[in-house]
Amino acid sequence: MSILRSPRMSCSSSDLILITHAHMDHLDVPSLKSLPKTAVVVTCEKCSKIIAPLGFKDVRELKWGETTTVKGLTIRAMGARHWGRRWPPFGEDYGFNSYVLEKNGARTLLACDSAATDLFASVAKSPPDVAIFSIGAYDPWIDNHANPEQVWAMFQQTAPATFFRSPGARSNCRRNRWKSHCND
Ligand SMILES: [Zn+2]
Repeated sequence: MSILRSPRMSCSSSDLILITHAHMDHLDVPSLKSLPKTAVVVTCEKCSKIIAPLGFKDVRELKWGETTTVKGLTIRAMGARHWGRRWPPFGEDYGFNSYVLEKNGARTLLACDSAATDLFASVAKSPPDVAIFSIGAYDPWIDNHANPEQVWAMFQQTAPATFFRSPGARSNCRRNRWKSHCND
């Protein structure tokens, strides 16, 4: 078992952009504006109306259980224990997706923000090679996010070979950035 940390990478060319949900720290409009518009964007229910106006030509919404394929990579949407309002607790409910990615027998789980749940145990039937989880916070967000111990338990349920912690969803830095996105 190994633990990876977020690498710095160039986004000058991208084939695929995956959006798990509409929260400001996961669907960041300035970031999307900087990405190549030739990329296919796979997202959750209702999020295409935020993304498509940015110039992306191929925006695909998936419901839980639905699949799509991009350049031979199969993407299946599955659930999480979360919620999708962009400006919680106000505004419209958008969807929220985790994803299982598969190509040539290699599988990756990209988990949405999630509170503790046994939903991810379902992927253990064909264990992913890599599992990517967000570590949320302790109170007051514990009803919608998992603390490190809960993430570790969910990771073990999926029986993957490698754990990848996605960038913190609740850092002060990101929270401060919300203030500049009031018109999103
Ligand atoms: Zn979230």
